[in-house]
Amino acid sequence: MMKTANDINFKDKKALIRVDFNVPLNENFEVTDPTRIEAAKPTIIKVLEDGGSAILMSHLGRPKGVDKKFSLEHIIKAVSDVIGVHVKFVDNCIGEEAEKAAAELKNGEILLLENLRFHPEEKAGDKDFAEKLSKLGDVYVNDAFGTAHRAHASTAIIAQFFPENKCAGLLLSKEVENLNQVLNNSKKPVTAVIGGAKVSSKIGVMMNILDKVDHIIIGGGMAFTFIKVKGGKIGDSLVEDDKLDVAQDILNMAKQKNTKIHLPIDVIGADSFSEEAKTQVFPANDIPDGWMGLDAGPKSNVGFSYVIADSKTILWNGPVGVFEMEKFAKGTIELGNAIADATADGAFSLVGGGDSVAAVKKFGLTDKVSYVSTGGGAMLEMLEGKTLPGIAALEE
Ligand code: AMP
Repeated sequence: MMKTANDINFKDKKALIRVDFNVPLNENFEVTDPTRIEAAKPTIIKVLEDGGSAILMSHLGRPKGVDKKFSLEHIIKAVSDVIGVHVKFVDNCIGEEAEKAAAELKNGEILLLENLRFHPEEKAGDKDFAEKLSKLGDVYVNDAFGTAHRAHASTAIIAQFFPENKCAGLLLSKEVENLNQVLNNSKKPVTAVIGGAKVSSKIGVMMNILDKVDHIIIGGGMAFTFIKVKGGKIGDSLVEDDKLDVAQDILNMAKQKNTKIHLPIDVIGADSFSEEAKTQVFPANDIPDGWMGLDAGPKSNVGFSYVIADSKTILWNGPVGVFEMEKFAKGTIELGNAIADATADGAFSLVGGGDSVAAVKKFGLTDKVSYVSTGGGAMLEMLEGKTLPGIAALEE
């Protein structure tokens, strides 16, 4: 069993917390979206309120060696503002200077370390580097769900140096709990909405959830590979011809397992991939050449909403149309509204994956769904049924 930060009293302890502060910066190196810092706040506050101190370590961007553009110095102010405590900074994450700063840290104080990825040993999962990091704290806390699928030094390897003193942060444990509620502890009927551009990126997820869900709504660009293998005419819509076999396998498996697959019945067809395109509604399996389906059509939206309204657990990953363009956003908006309504009626809904999270934010639905996951890749790997190294390391 994995301990969480709530199981530990941090009084007089230095908590070495792996956070995900990989935040977007503008050209003046100011944080433009502090969501990831806010997400780590409950864990940091728990440590400070217990009477301990917090040493925060993170990566930022993809630097090749030391590169001040990617310095965590840029985010000191944003972290201080969000947490409400002035944050100290040290311009390395290991070595004498970092050890001195950590040793001098008093209860109630926060120390931010320089970018972990200034050392290539971080991504390589180097054991010696992990050991050097481990010297800085008494308790290891992993709250970086977004990188929990990576076996990096600070996300997994380091845990072995804290055999008795390691735990999940409050964000990471909440993510795992909510995903388990969908995958292993769900109230039926369970519906997964899988959308987005490509079948290839969602094969693992669909295979793994087939026997856990009652319905799968397949939307977006990836629906056309399924429609084509069923004999439909898809015009110039997005298709992965090398994935037709996989699509057929998924349809066969679904039939065997009695999982109902819902594909769009009609689509908004466009004569080009642009906001200026001419549009027309077509049956999803009879799209003329020269036209591509870029959004779910009106009948599809009604059908999808009907399935959602009848569900007690809903997982949403991926938009059902090119929602970034207003002309092709309606399907995704209607789907989001249907999920919000079902949630208001008592269903549990979890939204995850970069683009669906962006859609939920754009259409103001964040507070109307039960949970919005912060981890794209990590969430997909959990949905694929994989064991995440960052989580396994806390359970050993
Ligand atoms: P993914 O990253 O695989 O979840 O895909 C998300 C992207 O799929 C979004 O940027 C959407 O614009 C795009 N998308 C959704 N529906 C379609 C479609 N019918 N044709 C092409 N792209 C689509």
